[in-house]
Amino acid sequence: MREKECIFCKIISGGISCHRVYEDDAVLAFLDIGPISIGHTLVVPKQHYEKLHNCPVEVFSAMSAATGKIAGVVAEAMQADGYNVLCNNGRSAGQLVDHVHFHVIPRKIDDGIFQRWPKFEYSSGQAEKIAARIREKL
Ligand code: 5GP
Ligand code: ZN
Repeated sequence: MREKECIFCKIISGGISCHRVYEDDAVLAFLDIGPISIGHTLVVPKQHYEKLHNCPVEVFSAMSAATGKIAGVVAEAMQADGYNVLCNNGRSAGQLVDHVHFHVIPRKIDDGIFQRWPKFEYSSGQAEKIAARIREKL
């Protein structure tokens, strides 16, 4: 997705309205239009990057700092018991808008949204190989 067609770039430039909760030089945060819980907020860098690993460290750092602050404030304002911070990257991971963003999702005990994802166990020796394969790429 190019910047011109990007819905979040349009929100950042003011072409599309949003319910803004926070703004600084590098970051805009606004309510998600299709919330999974009341107060579900998106934290978006003002520069267009598609995925988390595309972000320069200054952008990631600004996003992270803003997200920490916003998460606490949103949770308090919504009287939440907790919150999730999610970042979907790629279609397989559920990313619909190709402008990197953190979801801040306020949570209440037994809100029924989701709990744990399914898990499995590595076979003998598999974890060692997997970790090595990842380290090789660093
Ligand atoms: P993703 O699936 O890419 O991680 O999440 C994109 C999010 O952006 C979705 O939760 C969706 O509801 C939200 N969204 C999409 N278009 C708009 C919009 O025009 N305004 C706002 N406020 N949120 C949007
Ligand atoms: Zn964009």
